[in-house]
Amino acid sequence: VIRRIAIVGSGMAGLTAALLLREQHHEVTIFEKSRGPGGRMAAKRVKGGSVDIGAQYFTIRNPAFSAFLSRHAGDSFGPWSGRFGYQISSGQWEPFPQEARYVGVPRMTAITRGLSTAADVQAQTRIDSLVRHDRQWLMKDTEGESYGPFDAVIVTAPPAQARDLFSNSTLTALSDDIQDHVSHIQPCWATAVYFQQALEQPYDAMRCQNPVLEWIANNTSKPGRDDSGQWWVLHATPQWSREHENTSADKVSAAMVEAFQKVTGVSACPDEWISHRWLYAKSSSAEQPGFRWYDEHCIGLAGDWLSGGRVEGAFDSASGLVAHMLAD
Ligand code: FAD
Repeated sequence: VIRRIAIVGSGMAGLTAALLLREQHHEVTIFEKSRGPGGRMAAKRVKGGSVDIGAQYFTIRNPAFSAFLSRHAGDSFGPWSGRFGYQISSGQWEPFPQEARYVGVPRMTAITRGLSTAADVQAQTRIDSLVRHDRQWLMKDTEGESYGPFDAVIVTAPPAQARDLFSNSTLTALSDDIQDHVSHIQPCWATAVYFQQALEQPYDAMRCQNPVLEWIANNTSKPGRDDSGQWWVLHATPQWSREHENTSADKVSAAMVEAFQKVTGVSACPDEWISHRWLYAKSSSAEQPGFRWYDEHCIGLAGDWLSGGRVEGAFDSASGLVAHMLAD
């Protein structure tokens, strides 16, 4: 019988699994290596508020996702009615069709903070290995501290981190299963730039055809953001990010600002900027099983990389895993 469950990771997948299991009266503890919950639904504190440097927006196509957010997320998110455009190969811009797009309000992390209030999150705890003890699991962190026992474990870390966790735990069959996904995770350099004088642009969010940048968004156009001046978020292409994985943040931000000026025709220089390197940003793996459950070990795997990438994929993956566990 599965009663006590440990979850590694407090991104959308980990929080979804925790709350759905708690609704069914399971005892759940989430372990998170960072200071707060949210994972890649991330925001950085800046002058005048904060800026979303990870996930930019999310979709709610699955009615179960909509129902889950209504039950647990309150008013921590809302629609973003920004004007979306994309660049065609001639360099011209075309508008994207309008679609319902959502963001955390007043920052992306508001939604995961909201979800985490009903979950038991043990932050700043990096799980290093799992130890089988009397048909249960003990979790060991990098400080040597032990937690448990648990009847089952759900790992929602990105594939490279999940693989390392299992290879430290001599669960080599599991780390072998994950290995193929590791090379499909792409890095992304993100730079946020601030202009005291608002820029006039035809679009608030732009998918670019550019060797350096793939995405530009006016963070200030999202609901509930501080609107004195403008913060823009720039995401570099996976290829450029990989080539510059070890370049200094100063050099990266200078190159990304130059590309931004070229793409938008803006000549002004930003008044402030800040960069963040995501080593594991998005998955491009063709293999999308939804989730994995290893019955003989009582270990589950969930996360965006098993279910189409993106925030809604993380929900689909975790809710699919929980439904499978409960049906079992
Ligand atoms: P994560 O959010 O990565 O959560 C995993 C958690 O596990 C992390 O908090 C991590 O700290 C923790 N962890 C890892 N190892 C350990 C360990 N050993 N012990 C304890 N904790 C551990 N999606 C969209 O839908 N729309 C977008 O516009 C979009 N844009 C994006 C832009 C960027 C730059 C990035 C990086 C991502 C973007 N995404 C977007 C993807 C989206 O952010 C992810 O799909 C989603 O947030 C993944 O959720 P998750 O729970 O699967 O993983």
